[in-house]
Amino acid sequence: MHVVKFGGSSVANADKIKKVIEIIRLKATTYPQQVVVVSALGGITDILLQYASEALLNNGSHHSTWVTIQQRHINAMSNLLPLVAQAKASTAINTLLAELQNVGNGIALLGELSPRIQDKVASYGELLSSTIIAQALQVSIASTLWADARQLIITNDNYKNAVVNFEATNQKITQYFANNTASIYLVPGFIAATATGVTTTLGRGGSDYTAAILAGTLQATELEIWTDVSGMMTADPRIVPTAKIIPAISYQEAMELSHFGAKVIYPPTIQPVMHLGIPVYIKNTFEPSQPGTIIKNCTVANTEAVRGISSINSISLISLEGSGMIGIPGFSKRLFATLATQQINVILITQSSSEHSICVGISTANAAAAKTAIDDAFDFEIKTDTVQPLIIENDLAIVAVVGDNMKSQTGTAGRMFSTLGRNGINIRAIAQGSSEKNISAVVAAKEVTKCVNVLHETFFETEYKQVHLFIAGCGNVGKLLLAQLLQQFQFFKQEKHIQFNVVGIANSTKAMYNEAGIDLATWATEMPNAAASNIEQFVQTALDKNLRNTIFVDVTANAQVAAQYPHLLQRSMAVVACNKIASSSTYSHYKHLKQTANNQNTKYLFETNVGAALPIIGTLNDITNSGDSIVTIEGVLSGTLNYVFNYYDTTTSFASVVRQAQNEGFTEPDPRLDLSGTDVQRKLLILCREAGLPYEMSDIENKSFMPPSCMVGSVQDFYVEMEKNEAHFAQLYNAAKAEGCKLKFVASYTNGKAVVGLQQIAPQHDFYNLYGKDNIVLFYTNRYATQPMVVKGAGAGAAVTASGVFADIVRATQH
Ligand code: ADP
Ligand code: ASP
Ligand code: MG
Repeated sequence: MHVVKFGGSSVANADKIKKVIEIIRLKATTYPQQVVVVSALGGITDILLQYASEALLNNGSHHSTWVTIQQRHINAMSNLLPLVAQAKASTAINTLLAELQNVGNGIALLGELSPRIQDKVASYGELLSSTIIAQALQVSIASTLWADARQLIITNDNYKNAVVNFEATNQKITQYFANNTASIYLVPGFIAATATGVTTTLGRGGSDYTAAILAGTLQATELEIWTDVSGMMTADPRIVPTAKIIPAISYQEAMELSHFGAKVIYPPTIQPVMHLGIPVYIKNTFEPSQPGTIIKNCTVANTEAVRGISSINSISLISLEGSGMIGIPGFSKRLFATLATQQINVILITQSSSEHSICVGISTANAAAAKTAIDDAFDFEIKTDTVQPLIIENDLAIVAVVGDNMKSQTGTAGRMFSTLGRNGINIRAIAQGSSEKNISAVVAAKEVTKCVNVLHETFFETEYKQVHLFIAGCGNVGKLLLAQLLQQFQFFKQEKHIQFNVVGIANSTKAMYNEAGIDLATWATEMPNAAASNIEQFVQTALDKNLRNTIFVDVTANAQVAAQYPHLLQRSMAVVACNKIASSSTYSHYKHLKQTANNQNTKYLFETNVGAALPIIGTLNDITNSGDSIVTIEGVLSGTLNYVFNYYDTTTSFASVVRQAQNEGFTEPDPRLDLSGTDVQRKLLILCREAGLPYEMSDIENKSFMPPSCMVGSVQDFYVEMEKNEAHFAQLYNAAKAEGCKLKFVASYTNGKAVVGLQQIAPQHDFYNLYGKDNIVLFYTNRYATQPMVVKGAGAGAAVTASGVFADIVRATQH
């Protein structure tokens, strides 16, 4: 006998059912007899249960839900069956729908909805679907017998999750098939009955189980489960878009994956077929030529330890704790017995070795009942203070890594937990199945998507790692950064195994998003149509999306953006900034950011804060990391000021040279920050801090050369005032020239003194031949005592700054 099952997703409407019929037609050419199990039309079971709850409210709301149910089935029938067949089917369907309506009205009248009645209501889903499909098969393929599952599968009266009595069931099935002949036996899934004939159900998703029970008893050569995905996958494809089909998997692995949430197969399904060695195929109704997955005996060859990852939401941890539990046997037994009497399914158990606490993972739906029952059962111990009242933690999820080979390979748990740790995912509890086929971790519900994705990346996506970028600022630097990312996209994917997905781009008023990666060739044309946003919303979106390997890139000079870093770092999202505001804010804030990054295993990088892409901070870190210490720092750190003093020779006004520097993009958005020396002051402050000095801005002396009148008012006023003060600038220039010197704005730190200011530089000095917008830094250290270590090159400009930011992004991926 050949047994096939089509799930709700395969029979959701007439068009889909047509595909099902095609598959059965094709099979009929090979198999003279088939058992076909069907679910309710996709989504109908939920609607039926909603109908029952609405009826209980007795406010009339259930009537329109009944109409929805009626419409779905009438539509399916009329689009599927030829007119002649419709008459027969519609009588049967209308009878069922009328019964359902009576049951609903009964619930409303009595104001009572027991699990028994819920099962009765739910059963109409499969009864209706199977009636329609049986007619369609009869018309289009061959003699079809509708077999009532309630007369084949006998259960106890544990409504909503009834337990099968296999002895009685086997007898019924064997008898039925001995007494009937048909080419196709069409069986409604999910539903069964007690020995006295009361309708029960096998638990949500239970049609798979119906098919497996039939396959087992009929000793089918194989069982086929047809659904809407091309097999069992390495993770739920709705959570991990890159999940891969598993071609072959052992019964045990399939059971573990489904127990921990892989909905594609209902967990009890494996049981009836496993001990008979009947292989199970998972196939896609909408892509029938795909090979799908085979679930079979014995460990399937797998070089990797992990076969798949699954997760369950809406988990609560319940913990029983107390000094009275230590060394006294029987506490666990009483705890589990209490849960069992309440019919609460235990999903995960951990117990500390001190036996001082037992922690159990259960479905949140059962948490309140567990609390009442357990506090009641341990009433005496709670009153005598030997055990605490049950502790419940909600909003959790379980993530499980599954594989038969984990037991023979070391390091899987290590890889799993270091991956979670690196991504800032806190683990609330851990359990390892004694068979070592799974390792499961309890995490916050909001982390579950990220958690499954990072684990999937670690165990299955060895080709490349996806890095998610949120870019704040798309001005001069931002634009060029995005262009560089586009240019290097393929190189990174192929050579470095990194795929950069720019998920968000924001300016001060708008933001655009795409989790699969914004098209970097067209983003600029789409930005004007992006949704209105602000920086807080942009950061909140990054936090809410909670994507793995997130790097937040700040290419603004905005204080509000800088204020967001702590939230991001706290959630283990890396921050790369060319914005200097955070690193030059108070020392305690700077230190807090560095420490948060450290604690959360992430990166806070700001190489471009000093000298654009020049490796100044990196070099300084290398010096101090190697145990050397900084004695003196001397540098020309303002590309802007260097440019201005290189070009200013009094032939044109000082103001016009400044304007030229601004036009060429070599100044801060507000050029007064450069001209006042404040920007250099900030850079020296950052260098001093990176050298280990707990400096504040006030510890850096600024000998400004700007007349104070230039520094008040707007940027416009600033240019006007500079023109007025041309004589002052000319005097500075001429005085230096008279000495044969050039003017340079120098930052220096030595002997605990840090100063920035204008200096006359003589021709023999290292700084004399510094052209254009170049920067230079000299590090004198214990090891470089007489000859300094020198870093020199272009220290300003959007393109080099963007490339420096890019380099930091690449560094941030390496953790
Ligand atoms: P059916 O209606 O056919 O019974 P289900 O919705 O019950 O289908 O199960 C199929 C769904 O299971 C898929 O669409 C997929 O979203 C989900 N799923 C969860 N985990 C996995 C997994 N590991 N492999 C495949 N599908 C999975
Ligand atoms: N229709 C039932 C449900 O939705 C059974 C199934 O689809 O397997 O749970
Ligand atoms: Mg299912």
